[in-house]
Amino acid sequence: MMGGNEMDNANKEWLKIPNEIRNQLIRNVWCATCSDVVKITNYVIQSHKLGIILDGKCGTCGQEVSRIIEK
Ligand SMILES: [Zn+2]
Repeated sequence: MMGGNEMDNANKEWLKIPNEIRNQLIRNVWCATCSDVVKITNYVIQSHKLGIILDGKCGTCGQEVSRIIEK
């Protein structure tokens, strides 16, 4: 079960990253189905042991994709 505070912290970590970098990260997510780098859509930010993780869907094929952003 995810606590609300954990979610808030992950979001704060994400928002600390400059907007330009965040846009680059969103557009550079690996999709195994497309075998290509895609844009992630409908994503949520969650805590990860290495930093934070974007969990969302491939903008091209709709498969679930995620990207870890290490601290
Ligand atoms: Zn895809």
